[in-house]
Amino acid sequence: MINILIVEDEPAMQLGLKDNLEMESYTVDLANDGEAGLLKIKSGGYDLILLDVMLPKLSGFDVCKAARSAGIRTPIILLTARGEEIDKVVGLELGADDYITKPFSVRELLARVKAILRRSQSIVLEKEDTLVDIGRLHVDFAIFQAKENGADVKLSHKELEILSYLYKNKNLVVSRYDLLENVWGYEEQITTRTVDNFIVRLRQKVETNPNQPRIILTVHGSGYKMVL
Ligand code: CA
Repeated sequence: MINILIVEDEPAMQLGLKDNLEMESYTVDLANDGEAGLLKIKSGGYDLILLDVMLPKLSGFDVCKAARSAGIRTPIILLTARGEEIDKVVGLELGADDYITKPFSVRELLARVKAILRRSQSIVLEKEDTLVDIGRLHVDFAIFQAKENGADVKLSHKELEILSYLYKNKNLVVSRYDLLENVWGYEEQITTRTVDNFIVRLRQKVETNPNQPRIILTVHGSGYKMVL
């Protein structure tokens, strides 16, 4: 599960953000002012923080600065108001990862959120061991091998690439086009149906019950999501 903290004092904005993020299956926590926000940030457990700049008690800038000087590396997206161009620069200098200007569209916000999460999660993956457990499989992405209970499981290179891509984006929705673009590349004449066929084959190797997947989920109308 991906946990997002929203630090925002305007109730309508807070609710709108919360609803839209929850619709994307993120877990959302809220803070109404800078002080409460900073306390929550310091308590840890968040994958991303949406931080309004104009906040009661402690500004978003102060929160950002305090969090960074406390050694907290959680990605922060600042929510700035129109016309606060200088503030954006200050915010990024204080350690924010990105900013978005109000009013923004839901689509724009979700794109930023997804991009930041993708970036931070791939950094985590690079630092971590390349040995991971995905359902029934024990996978070594460094040598592209998979085992189940110590015995080799035959996975094609493409299957492993798909598995790797889903793993890098675990708990995020990955569209069929994301997979086409990142696993096959633009040139190859592959259709989204091919992607679906590969997913069916992967489920047979990963899932305890391939007919009721719990790891490689179908997100209706969007694509797939690896839940780990
Ligand atoms: Ca505000």
